[in-house]
Amino acid sequence: MPEGDTLHRAAIRLRPALAGLALQRFEAPRLLGNRPLLGATIRDVEAVGKHLLVHFDDGLTLRTHLGMAGSWHLYRSEERWRKPRHLLRALVGVNGWDAVCFSAPQVQTYRPSQPGGPLGTGRDPIGHLGPDLCTPDVDLDEAVGRFETVAQPDAEIAVVLLDQRVVAGVGNVYKSELLHRCRVDPFVAVKAVPIPVRRQLVEAANRLLLLNLATTRRTTVAGPAGSVAVYGKARRPCPRCGTPIRMVHHGIQNRSTYWCPRCQPPGAAGLPSLLPALHQLSRPHQEPPSEHGQPSANPENGRTSPSPSIEHTNGHPIAHWQQLIRSSDLTKHIELVTWLRAEHGLGHGQANALVRQTLLEHQSDT
Ligand SMILES: [Zn+2]
Repeated sequence: MPEGDTLHRAAIRLRPALAGLALQRFEAPRLLGNRPLLGATIRDVEAVGKHLLVHFDDGLTLRTHLGMAGSWHLYRSEERWRKPRHLLRALVGVNGWDAVCFSAPQVQTYRPSQPGGPLGTGRDPIGHLGPDLCTPDVDLDEAVGRFETVAQPDAEIAVVLLDQRVVAGVGNVYKSELLHRCRVDPFVAVKAVPIPVRRQLVEAANRLLLLNLATTRRTTVAGPAGSVAVYGKARRPCPRCGTPIRMVHHGIQNRSTYWCPRCQPPGAAGLPSLLPALHQLSRPHQEPPSEHGQPSANPENGRTSPSPSIEHTNGHPIAHWQQLIRSSDLTKHIELVTWLRAEHGLGHGQANALVRQTLLEHQSDT
């Protein structure tokens, strides 16, 4: 199944060739619905989730879903095709160009103003889709909310991420990459994944999908073009911890899922973002600082309070911490872990992982 970014890249390629021109050739041997009229003007080409839509000015829309193996190619008229003709599922020809769709399992026309027409379902064929994470102005609150309102609470998070009714655009590659990035066990029930972690997942998906609209080699982690963390890397070392990556086929569609058994152990449901903790850590405190650089006992709540050395950094404490994390200062790393354990009740492993993850994310963002 192609990822949403593949469809959006196809729309970006097809739009300048087709939009505004009159339809001169049309073929679709397995079309459901009415054939568009020759001479109709193509109003626009757009991707919505994993659907590619060609809108005609007479109100008809051609919808293709590429399934596992489908693709759209753009050819100059008379140019030799790179796939055999018997795989043709749709051809949209205008003056000078032929846009050809191969192997798509779903080719349908419908009128958005009268959804449901040819299939008789009474439903808009794309009306069920969740927010499209390939778009820059997507409603992320709505996306996060759909984990609650659309998904079954016991469904595995790996299955939920692929459910286009929850969010549109995430395919099998991003699914594994996102779960590894956010340290979530692919097989944990969605109800066990906290809302802030659901938000991390959709934010990361949105950021990565948008980044990859402009590339041809899908890249999800820092490194050369095409770098991914776990997808397609069974038995190779996890880039974070070196543990061999595992893969199983699962879910109704028997999709492959890749994960690191150490970073994503059974039941792992992600980690909170470190930034709110850093903000809290940087707030001025009432009590006088104790030994420079040492945590001091807070008599009011008996817990450890933040190191005064942070507050005394000139300028911005967050920037100070980011600098420390970036420089991998081990003493500061331990200090931060200690503070996270005391203030946020995290276990040692969790706190350590959180600091290391922030370090990793910071590296990949720079
Ligand atoms: Zn790992």
